[in-house]
Order: sequence, then C-alpha cells, then structure tokens
Amino acid sequence: MITLALSKGRIFEDSLPLLAAAGIEVLEDPEKSRKLIIGTTRPDVRVVLVRASDVPTYVQHGGADLGVAGLDVLLEHGDGLYRPLDLRIARCRMSVATRADFDYASAVRQGARIRVATKYTQIARQHFAAKGVHVDLIKLYGSMELAPLTGLADAIVDLVSTGSTLKANQLVEVEKIMDISSRLVVNPAALKLKRAPLRALIDAFEQAVESRA
Ligand code: ATP
Ligand code: MG
Repeated sequence: MITLALSKGRIFEDSLPLLAAAGIEVLEDPEKSRKLIIGTTRPDVRVVLVRASDVPTYVQHGGADLGVAGLDVLLEHGDGLYRPLDLRIARCRMSVATRADFDYASAVRQGARIRVATKYTQIARQHFAAKGVHVDLIKLYGSMELAPLTGLADAIVDLVSTGSTLKANQLVEVEKIMDISSRLVVNPAALKLKRAPLRALIDAFEQAVESRA
C-alpha cells in the first residue's frame, strides 16, 4: 500500500490533475465526506488528509510514504525529507507587508529594530538575519493582517497571492522574500522498501509537471 498525505483545500484540488496524469482518481470528495483516509482507483494507493503543516511530520516519520506540502511549510519544518520535487502548484509568494504609513525602507536603512509578526518565524528569522536587520519576532497562528493595524507589530511576513487580503486591510507589500510552490516529499525508508511503485509514481508526477510547464 502506498500512502499519500495531502491537505484539504488548494493542495488537494491542485494535486488532482497530477494524480489523474498518474492514472489515479480519488474515490471521495473531502469537502463532502468526513473520512480522513480516502481510497483511489488504484487499490494500492490511498490518500490521508492531514493539516497542511502536518504533512512533513507524517512523511518524515512514515505515517505516509509521500506527501505534498508548500515550500513555506517545508522550510518551517526543517530538513529530514528526501529530495523534494517542485510540483509548481499552489503558487504564491512570501512577502513583508506593512501599513502604508510605515516607512519600511528607512527603518531598514537606519538599522531600527522592527517588530515583525508572523506564522513563519524560521523564514522571517533567516530573511532578516541575511539582511542584517534587527527584528523582534512575534509568533502568530493566523489573521496576521491584524498585527500592524492594532499596533502589535510594524510588519508581517505572510503568503501573498493576489494581494487582495492585504489591500482589504490597507496593508502594502514592501518586499518579496521568495516564491512559494508546493513540493512532493518522500519518506527515504519507504523509497527503499517500495522502490518500484514509488519511483513509478514520482516519475508520473514529474512528467505531469513537465507537460504542464
Ligand atoms: P491550515 O489552514 O491547516 O492552518 P494553511 O493555511 O497553511 O494551514 P492552506 O491555506 O490550505 O493551509 O495552504 C496550504 C499551502 O498552500 C500553504 O502552505 C502555501 O504553500 C499555499 N498557499 C497558501 N496561501 C496561498 C495562496 N493565497 N495562494 C496560493 N497558495 C497558497
Ligand atoms: Mg489557510
């Protein structure tokens, strides 16, 4: 049995065409069913539905043989996962945003201490350290846009795709940190034990990504 970890929502939706290209269809719609384990048209392949940020944990510890996770989630998780394949799905970017009246450029230039609220503390820490900017990081779990509006922080580090959430909250994207897309990660032990079927699946995904490029 091959177990693939996916999260509900955009990663699940965007993974469906890649699975289809590998000849696999899932037998249930996670938005309609409460099942957490979903069978597929391949009797030896099943999907487990986990929280986006739990995908690396499942794959690293063998709860799943492979999984799809955003680069953001993988960087926050740290290493321990086998050669991720860029699936080019769930694309967005990691950016710094502030209120329009906050002068980010001169705060950075003057070497001021900036208060940054984010769910992505590893990425933020690494980004500002590389720039030599002093930051106080404030860990949040959601609704980051509120932080600059309430005075909790000067800036946020968050995922942006269209920018409409920032705009709705009168925030401005002041710096792009990196492009983000989702990656296929594989458990190294599973790759040894189930080499042939996993290899075939990974190759099919790779070809599907290439043909959609
Ligand atoms: P949870 O909802 O369980 O707290 P999450 O918010 O990280 O986790 P999703 O919103 O489903 O889960 O996001 C999953 C992944 O999709 C993210 O890790 C990121 O890589 C990507 N993503 C997030 N927001 C966007 C977006 N606006 N556009 C495109 N991709 C995005
Ligand atoms: Mg979300």
